[in-house]
Amino acid sequence: MSPVVIFAIFSFLLGAAVGSFLNVCIYRLPAGESIVSPPSRCPACGARIRPWHNIPILGWLILRGKCRDCGAPISPRYPLVELLNGLLTLALFLKFGPSLTFLVLFVFCSALVAITFIDLDHQIIPDVISLPGIVVGFACSFVLPWLGWKSSLIGIVAGGGSLLLVAWLYELFTKKEGMGGGDIKLLAMMGAFLGWRSVPFIIFASSLIGSVIGVTLMLIQKKDGKLAIPFGPFLAAGAVLYIFYGKAIITWYLTLGAR
Ligand SMILES: [Zn+2]
Repeated sequence: MSPVVIFAIFSFLLGAAVGSFLNVCIYRLPAGESIVSPPSRCPACGARIRPWHNIPILGWLILRGKCRDCGAPISPRYPLVELLNGLLTLALFLKFGPSLTFLVLFVFCSALVAITFIDLDHQIIPDVISLPGIVVGFACSFVLPWLGWKSSLIGIVAGGGSLLLVAWLYELFTKKEGMGGGDIKLLAMMGAFLGWRSVPFIIFASSLIGSVIGVTLMLIQKKDGKLAIPFGPFLAAGAVLYIFYGKAIITWYLTLGAR
């Protein structure tokens, strides 16, 4: 096997293994529990998960989605989160190769996966991820030439500031609280990791994806505007889209006007 294939397989396994850790974060962080101890237990009977059943994706398949001790069903979301993070990491490796950029964006995207599922479950984006994320993103900008500390710093201010403005205007006109503080800190973190150019793209893309999915859900559920959909997952989708296709989409958009 060529080294590239071996690295590609390794990147998928790395992503899936970290996905297994993300599952722990997704379930324990919102409850304020430690993510280090105790070791994984069945939520139904409390039996300890055996190490070989903790193998990403495969463990769940071996158990056929049931606890070995009490037979309680184990959510298919566990292997799905592992698979998703594995594929995302593989895609990052195929795009950026074995590089510092790959490592930094791997950490960033893993954080986005955890944030997405926590926001879907609880409508919150934990500060323990987004605030250190802003600092880590800014620190990484010093070693990533395509990013640069100035673009990262402006990204933090533009990301946080623009959503803060939207939230403020929304409250001013509707007298209701719309955009959560968590979304503001999340976009600041994205600006830190991806630079200021990503901010307008992410706002536009996430609003577009959010409206399409929001309207679809309302039509399916026949509810009128009372559906509370968290915005974090759409911001995350916008950021991932920017990483893989941002340049291509912006170039395509700009050439539209030149025609
Ligand atoms: Zn059990």
